[in-house]
Amino acid sequence: MSRYRGSVCRQCRRENIKLFLKGDRCFSDKCSFDRRGYPPGDHGQKRSKLSDYGMQLREKQKIRRIYGLSEKQFRITFKRADRQKGITGTNLLSLLERRLDNAVFRLGFANSRNQGRHFVRHSHFTVNGRKANIPSYQLKKGDVIELKGKSKEIQAIKDSLEAIVRRGIPQWLEIDKDNFKGTVVNTPAREDITLPIQEQLVVELYSK
Ligand code: SF4
Repeated sequence: MSRYRGSVCRQCRRENIKLFLKGDRCFSDKCSFDRRGYPPGDHGQKRSKLSDYGMQLREKQKIRRIYGLSEKQFRITFKRADRQKGITGTNLLSLLERRLDNAVFRLGFANSRNQGRHFVRHSHFTVNGRKANIPSYQLKKGDVIELKGKSKEIQAIKDSLEAIVRRGIPQWLEIDKDNFKGTVVNTPAREDITLPIQEQLVVELYSK
């Protein structure tokens, strides 16, 4: 799988929005977007009007980067959303939100989705008591995500849980901080995704 190896903050500047990809740094005065909120590159400060296609493409890139997916993974997820009943755009966001790495981040066990993916890959969590080390694992209502015994000593996880107050937990999840346990109490609703995302533009892009 091809992985983006360039500057993470550059992605925020490219999409012209804070994507919160670097945990605590995003809330500090070191945030590159706050300091240089224009697109990277020699022509970054020039104003240019985007075509319809350009806007659709940028929206797709933005969502893909927020959730840290490769082009191929994103397209597979879109196809899956398209096959489901209901509104494709909403299905897409629901599938992205219910990824295990995203839930680990949203519950406060990690300070970014990237860190959440790292923790999942290193088998720090179980889902319903079973080993779960696949970041794309799709959670469903009633699933219980739990930190494994020794992993409860990891300082980065403890710090992240303390800082979750700042971000808040979406209504579809519940956290039991004392027992390092999270529960999926519902299916994520559209209003749980508070970042300014226009998923309809992605549907239009892939419908061409
Ligand atoms: Fe984006 Fe965070 Fe970097 Fe700021 S610090 S530019 S929000 S990744």
